[in-house]
Amino acid sequence: MPPDSKTCQACGRRITWRKKWKDDWDDVRYCSTGCRKRGVGVADRDLEQRILDTLDGRARSASICPSDVARQKSPDDWRPLMEPVRQAARRLVAQGRVEITQQGHVVDPSTAKGPIRIRLPR
Ligand SMILES: [Zn+2]
Repeated sequence: MPPDSKTCQACGRRITWRKKWKDDWDDVRYCSTGCRKRGVGVADRDLEQRILDTLDGRARSASICPSDVARQKSPDDWRPLMEPVRQAARRLVAQGRVEITQQGHVVDPSTAKGPIRIRLPR
């Protein structure tokens, strides 16, 4: 990671240094007001754990879809969980615990658009 960027604690996207942060860059933890307000709660940590547990239950080389985790947590109302699961996956990428792929290739979680899969690092 370049020295002038860090990862948002909430959404897991890259935060690029901006001039307004020149005096307190070390304290910046969120990319936006929305992320700061939302923060990371117990439910978000639970999604991270569910991703890891789900991967743990599969073959070492397997990948999972975010919807696998969303459906497992809330079978009848899983769609609203898709973005929270993707955010959890991005936070795990920042921790080096998973990779996000598209068509079998590792992608940048900050910029990937469209369907993603999650797998353990190779
Ligand atoms: Zn953010």
